[in-house]
Formats: sequence, C-alpha cells, structure tokens
Amino acid sequence: MKILTDQHTHSNISEDSQATLDSMCRSAIDKGIDIISFTEHVDFNPRDPGYHFFNEQKYSNEIIKMRQKYSDRIQIMKGVEFDAPNLYSREFKQINSGDYDIILGSVHMIDNKFVGDSSLLEKMTLEELFKRYYEQLLDLVRFGGFDVVAHFDFPKRYYMKNILSERIAEEILNTMIEKGIALEINTSPLRRGYHESSPGKDILGKYATLGGTMITIGSDAHIPENIGADFDYAFKLIQSINDLTLGYFKKRVFKAV
Ligand SMILES: [Zn+2]
Ligand SMILES: [Zn+2]
Repeated sequence: MKILTDQHTHSNISEDSQATLDSMCRSAIDKGIDIISFTEHVDFNPRDPGYHFFNEQKYSNEIIKMRQKYSDRIQIMKGVEFDAPNLYSREFKQINSGDYDIILGSVHMIDNKFVGDSSLLEKMTLEELFKRYYEQLLDLVRFGGFDVVAHFDFPKRYYMKNILSERIAEEILNTMIEKGIALEINTSPLRRGYHESSPGKDILGKYATLGGTMITIGSDAHIPENIGADFDYAFKLIQSINDLTLGYFKKRVFKAV
C-alpha cells in the first residue's frame, strides 16, 4: 500500500501559522495521511518577521506530546525549514546537530526583503529579482548540509511566472544531485491559482534527466485544511516523469514510499 506523507507543514511553532500541532495532526489523520512532517520556520535574518521566533524547547515538548497522543494513528516527524543556512552557518550548525527528521533549505529573502514583497521591484526588474533569487539558491545548495530544497521556484508563487536560465537551473540541479539533496514538489502555488506546482514539470524533468531521483511532496500547509492539498496532482506529475522516487525523511535519511 502506498504511504501518504506530507513533508512540508507549519504549526504555531512558526511565526506565520496559528494552527496548533494537535489540529494539524487531527486533520492529517482525517485525510488518511500516514506520516506528517512538521517543518517549522527557523529564521535568523533580523528583517524576517520570524526572526528568533522559533522555540526549540517548546517545539520538542509539543512533538513528544503529539507522538504520545497519536502514535497508533500517524507517524509524526520533527523538522524545520531553515532560511538560508549559507548565510547563518553558525546557527545552522547548531540546528543541524539537533534530533530532527528533516531539514528543508529555503531562500525567502532578497536584499533583506521577503521575496514576495513587490516593493523589491522599485529597485530591480522582475528579471533581476529572479536572477538574484536563483543566485542565492545556487549558493544555498553549494553550501548544502540540509535534506530538501523547498519551493524551488519560490518567487513564482507571488509573481505568477518563472524566469530561469537553462544554465543556472542545471547548475543548481547538478549541485543538488552531487550533494544528495532531494527536490520537493510544493503544491502551494496551485492554491493560489497558479497552473502548476513549485517546481513544475520542466524543472522536475530536468532533475530526472540529470540523474536526480529523490522527490518529496509538501503542501506547505499553515492551516489544517491545507494538509495533503493537491497530492493527486503531484502523484500524476511524478508518474509522468521517468525515474523519480517519492519518499520521506526519517532521522535525516531518505526512505522511498
Ligand atoms: Zn518557505
Ligand atoms: Zn514552508
């Protein structure tokens, strides 16, 4: 039987969610999810609203409680979504030595502003914004040390298009493959009316062609209702590309489902 797993979710351990871990677990169980991975924001950019919000002790206590309460119904993974490990290497080292199941690497900020903040376009063109984003993503994967690249083409979620040169796409994907970093299919853009996930078929196809295999699916849910959203879309997408292996992370090790 196929294991259903949502590899990217947030609770109120993250600054931008009000949902309790309990409500997220209950929704996941209702939706037939077998494994839920909490991937709470860890942000060290002082301009990020989530700066120093993450409370490791509180998070660990909650995870223990949830595992006790729901252990017969769902597996609960403890993870984080770390913004720019390459820029906060000391802080990352500390998180990296913790007892996490999964660490997502993300780029959320350009020039100390959120990627989706359209005031960035007062200083640069949309082409430049995407160029800057992907340069940072390349730095991020070169630094490595985390398990999955979250929302590969993140600015697409806000600007409803993707501007990416073949050369830099291949450089990022090749580096991920070399370092054993998995690629996430993030279904969040579909909920915003975009016609494809993040990334879409072209990037996933390229990843496979270059030799990449490890894929995770994440809803990026910040509310219980969004857990597992559009997973049928993601399954079809994976099936349409040869040689991709869907899986999840437990104790930082990729396991195929
Ligand atoms: Zn993110
Ligand atoms: Zn997220």
